[in-house]
Amino acid sequence: MADFSPLKAILSGNIILKSENKKAYQQEVDETWNGAIRARKPDAFIRVATVEDVANTVKFCVQNELEMCVCAAKNSDFSLAEGAVVMDLSDLNTVTVDVEGKVAVVGAGAKMSDVDKETARHCLVTPLGSYSELGVAGFTLLGGTGFLSRSYGCTSDNVLEFELVTISGDVIKASEDEKSRTILGNERLWIKLWGGDVHEISAL
Ligand SMILES: Cc1cc2nc3c(=O)[nH]c(=O)nc-3n(C[C@H](O)[C@H](O)[C@H](O)COP(=O)(O)OP(=O)(O)OC[C@H]3O[C@@H](n4cnc5c(N)ncnc54)[C@H](O)[C@@H]3O)c2cc1C
Repeated sequence: MADFSPLKAILSGNIILKSENKKAYQQEVDETWNGAIRARKPDAFIRVATVEDVANTVKFCVQNELEMCVCAAKNSDFSLAEGAVVMDLSDLNTVTVDVEGKVAVVGAGAKMSDVDKETARHCLVTPLGSYSELGVAGFTLLGGTGFLSRSYGCTSDNVLEFELVTISGDVIKASEDEKSRTILGNERLWIKLWGGDVHEISAL
């Protein structure tokens, strides 16, 4: 087991170790309904509270050669891995709406219900899925179709910009304007996200 104390010293969020924080650890596991995932035993959960936490956790895992995975709403099969360090983004769940510009800034761990709650009060809406407990970032990457897709496309068609943390811990923006980084045409976005050095979405 790695020594997590250097990360703990700089983290705003919490580190939950399998070996030390049994109750909090079990609460993390219990957040998923998926029995296949619940059977897995990660070594640690890092419950990040800021974008800096995300970057520091990525750097820590790379430096210590730790297997890392990322989860938000813990619905998919990829959210927990045996023996891994799981970065839990679910506290990064703020949603702010620019009513005039009709643009929402969505935290990396926000669920669809968080977005709908904020947009609906202004009679605004964006294409999301059929189940309000899905994470918006995970859904945008691995799904993206819902009730409004026939009229307005997939969720990713409606994203103006991603804020991303690279595997080296840099925080970058990816949009159509920043062509040097990536271009928000869906196919090219996928290539860049999965084939390049980009790791976590920290906001969209
Ligand atoms: C009940 C149910 C209903 C569904 N309905 C629909 C639907 O209507 N339409 C549709 O298209 N799909 C649907 N799906 C599929 C869904 O889109 C995927 O399961 C999606 O991956 C769920 O994302 P999550 O954040 O909830 O889960 P998670 O398991 O937490 O995350 C999913 C994946 O995304 C990654 N991830 C999450 N957040 C980030 C981030 N911020 N940065 C980088 N990686 C991240 C995780 O590592 C993981 O690989 C449904 C799934 C379920 C279980």
